[in-house]
Amino acid sequence: MVDDSPDNLNLLKQVLGNEGYELRVAPSGSFALRAIHINPPDLILLDIRMPDMDGMEVCRQLKNDDLTRDIPIIFLTALNSSLDEGRGLKLGAIDYITKPFNADIVKARVRNHLNYVHQRQLLEQLAKLDPLTEIPNRRWFDDAIESEWYRAMRAEIFISVAILDIDYFKQYNDNQGHLAGDQALIKVAQAIVKSLSRPADLVARYGGEEFVVLLPNTDSNGAKQFLDQIRNNVEKLNLVYELESEEKHLTISVGGSTVIPHSDVTFKGLLEAADANLYQAKNTGRNQVVWQELPSV
Ligand code: GH3
Ligand code: MG
Ligand code: MG
Repeated sequence: MVDDSPDNLNLLKQVLGNEGYELRVAPSGSFALRAIHINPPDLILLDIRMPDMDGMEVCRQLKNDDLTRDIPIIFLTALNSSLDEGRGLKLGAIDYITKPFNADIVKARVRNHLNYVHQRQLLEQLAKLDPLTEIPNRRWFDDAIESEWYRAMRAEIFISVAILDIDYFKQYNDNQGHLAGDQALIKVAQAIVKSLSRPADLVARYGGEEFVVLLPNTDSNGAKQFLDQIRNNVEKLNLVYELESEEKHLTISVGGSTVIPHSDVTFKGLLEAADANLYQAKNTGRNQVVWQELPSV
């Protein structure tokens, strides 16, 4: 709620105070821009006439910033001409309410807009989940590795990444059937999820029968041991199939790499190193972990 008048802010607090929202107030446009950038809210109620910077300008700046562009803005203003309302809506505000306002209408409009916000957040979450295994998909991983990479670079700490690929999975599908193959993918995903311990650790389905694990703040010894434990946990699932008339159980090969990020290496480079190690794990017997620490400056 952005308004230069304490009376107006108090009135709004009374109206919205019992609706279960977390309310934050800003007494000026410049204060609001800073507070919104630091901790973006789900919805903004914005006055127009304010001394240091008017609400239209605040709106323009928020719409020009990738981080705040999609936050819906409701103008709440004494300016009641259709010219002003037209200007406000053209700037991208989702709604325009004139003062003095009717409390029930304000409540209802806020509720409606927040419902849309929450539906959109839900869809954004679903778009980052793999439907079969219900773990994060590649899109989630791509976002996560980028932000963890720069975090590790700033903090000068290790980041480790592993690519896991199921061994002879084509064979498993061929003799157990595709549906059993799907079930096996779910079980392997769950086994990996169960093995993870820290909140920042992430596993995602990277492609068909490939998974990726991201371990922020983990050195190569720790990461390699950890992935070997995961490899062992997958083996213990005892998902049996036949390979050349021999009974086998499903295993995974893992390639991993670790680095303290610096300017001569990228997270793409880290992933490429992990992939090269996976290739080596496949070519030197499968059901094993091959790891490599990249030089840190
Ligand atoms: P390698 O040990 O060298 O990794 O051999 P592989 O057979 O696992 O590798 P390949 O890349 O030849 O085959 C991968 C198989 O994974 C083929 C494909 O049908 C299967 N697969 C990929 N996605 C799915 C899925 O969603 N469900 C099922 N059931 N199978 C899948
Ligand atoms: Mg593969
Ligand atoms: Mg495979």
